[in-house]
Amino acid sequence: MKKILIQLDSDPFASVFDAIAAYDSGADRVLQYAGMTPEDVQDLVYGAIFTRGPEQLKNSAVFIGGSDVAVGEEMLDVARDSFIGPLKVSVMLDANGCNTTAAAAVARMLSSVDLEGKKVTILAGTGPVGIRAAALFAQEGAQVTLTSRGQERAEEAAASIGERFDVDVIGVAAPDEAGVREALDGAHGVLCAGAAGVMLLPESIWVDHPTLQVLGDVNAVPPLGIEGIKVHWKGKEKHGKIIYGAIGIGDFKMKVHHASVARLFEQNDLILD
Ligand code: NAP
Repeated sequence: MKKILIQLDSDPFASVFDAIAAYDSGADRVLQYAGMTPEDVQDLVYGAIFTRGPEQLKNSAVFIGGSDVAVGEEMLDVARDSFIGPLKVSVMLDANGCNTTAAAAVARMLSSVDLEGKKVTILAGTGPVGIRAAALFAQEGAQVTLTSRGQERAEEAAASIGERFDVDVIGVAAPDEAGVREALDGAHGVLCAGAAGVMLLPESIWVDHPTLQVLGDVNAVPPLGIEGIKVHWKGKEKHGKIIYGAIGIGDFKMKVHHASVARLFEQNDLILD
């Protein structure tokens, strides 16, 4: 029986990246739907769950993408609510690459340093990747602080994480170098999750930082999020700290993406968010 991935994308064109990654993950056929809204999802999910018997439904799965993570989250909720008893399919949400990127960054950093009970700071953590990374670190037992240029935005992001992922995260403003220094006070890990091409962590702050053990950066566009590092560093030791650049994280992100899509076809009740 063919493995069919139903790709629901809120953007005007369904992501080519997600489609190719789906084929590389073992899907036999990808059905792409672009311009999707949460209101469209129920009928499409019905199309998936009513066509094959419960024991065959692991061969059908849904992938939710698009650049708007909030819309993606709504689509996931609708998909889940559309299931009827055993008539369900596995679903993965990776709008904007948020989950796979965050998961890869957190896994890479935790593979080097045990951060349980330790402070981890997510710089510019209000975007899709930062929010997911903050939630994942908190789920792994770290004490997480995320920053924004604005206090209100930081607090809103922290509250949204608490609501969706049921973990505690602190949101603080770090609009300048002094703010970043303060947000890193006592931190053992830092992840730069800022927009592409924005340097957030000057070398002068991290090189002789007294507690920082592991640094990660998901911004691959120069200037990098962390000053003085290389984009391909993958656990490089420098100034007594372990450092991951965006490509050092990105190659693992692809492996996470492929493995996650492949897992959708092993059972019909997996939700990957
Ligand atoms: P994003 O939403 O574009 O930006 C994250 C945050 O950066 C924003 O919420 C904003 O926070 C802050 N920011 C924006 N412009 C800024 C500026 N000029 N100065 C300081 N802060 C600024 O990011 P994202 O989509 O979560 O992605 C995060 C990073 O991961 C990006 O660099 C992206 O390119 C990268 N990425 C990598 C992969 C991969 O596979 N390697 C996949 C997806 C994304 P405030 O407004 O709250 O300050």
